[in-house]
Amino acid sequence: MDENKSPDRSSRIGFLKKVIIITVILLLVFPNITCIAMMIKQTELEAQINALTREVANMKLERSGDLGRIDYDSRMSVAAAFPEYFSGEDSPFFDVAVAEAEKAVEDAVTVGNEIALASDEVVWTFSASGDVSEAPHKVYLTFDDGPSAYTDDILDILNEYGVKATFFVVGKDSETDIELYKRIVDEGHTLGMHSYSHVYSDIYASEESFTQDLDRITTLLTEATGEEPKFYRFPGGSSNTVSRLDMHRFIDIVEDKGLTYFDWNVSSGDATKELLSAQQIQANAVSGIQNRETTVILMHDSLSKPTTVQALPGIIEKILAMDGTEILPITSDTEPVRHVE
Ligand SMILES: [Zn+2]
Repeated sequence: MDENKSPDRSSRIGFLKKVIIITVILLLVFPNITCIAMMIKQTELEAQINALTREVANMKLERSGDLGRIDYDSRMSVAAAFPEYFSGEDSPFFDVAVAEAEKAVEDAVTVGNEIALASDEVVWTFSASGDVSEAPHKVYLTFDDGPSAYTDDILDILNEYGVKATFFVVGKDSETDIELYKRIVDEGHTLGMHSYSHVYSDIYASEESFTQDLDRITTLLTEATGEEPKFYRFPGGSSNTVSRLDMHRFIDIVEDKGLTYFDWNVSSGDATKELLSAQQIQANAVSGIQNRETTVILMHDSLSKPTTVQALPGIIEKILAMDGTEILPITSDTEPVRHVE
């Protein structure tokens, strides 16, 4: 019996040995194969992320005014090319893609750029708040003395042309005016200060009165818009001859508060007593733009300046029709234009 069982048993043991050996080999090899497969997959995904980030960084399309905005089709084509990144916030690579793209865009378009991500559609919107263009002639439209009955009209015109401007406003606290401060900021324009009272004899009477006025307009605009203003334009400009005190004393106050002041190097001429025609204002406003890197145009947002509003569409059209020009809002990247340093 034992002799009969023996060969059967040893072949079974042999078989079991083989099974164990194969199992051990599989246990050793399988994780390695999996590991290699995952590494290959990871390399592919990294390549895709790189391609995506390059694509995103390259998309500074459809520039209108200061806005480097990616047009809808480009966004959709990227989304279609990389569905795994753009399938939604649940996508495992979503965070990676966002982080990588943000980094790439930061590198690509330098400073001061925001990236907003619409979480519902998962599309990209780049809002360039800095001067990211290589346009050799940067033009800044600035409106002093508002808000006024024309502020809405000016904003509508700017909107129509897709350009951003800068408003150096004075202090007004009616509900309508508060709404106008807000509209200026909400629509992407720069809201600067131009004193609260605009009464030269009060503002420039002493350092104390200047500081009081400055604090008052700062508080008003900060409370109205939720954003602290960063820019100042001296009533009459930094070179005004109204102030009996040396303007450097007021410049120091402005700079001590971390503000940047701006004058202008082109006047539209709309501050003169007699009303200029829209054509005259246009001709003044656009003069010499191509001889300068930075042009800051002085205009007024005031009930007594209707021809400025009439002139504005023509001014924008003429500037945009010139070679290498771009209309931008004043930002911390803007080269300051000053009469007195
Ligand atoms: Zn003024």
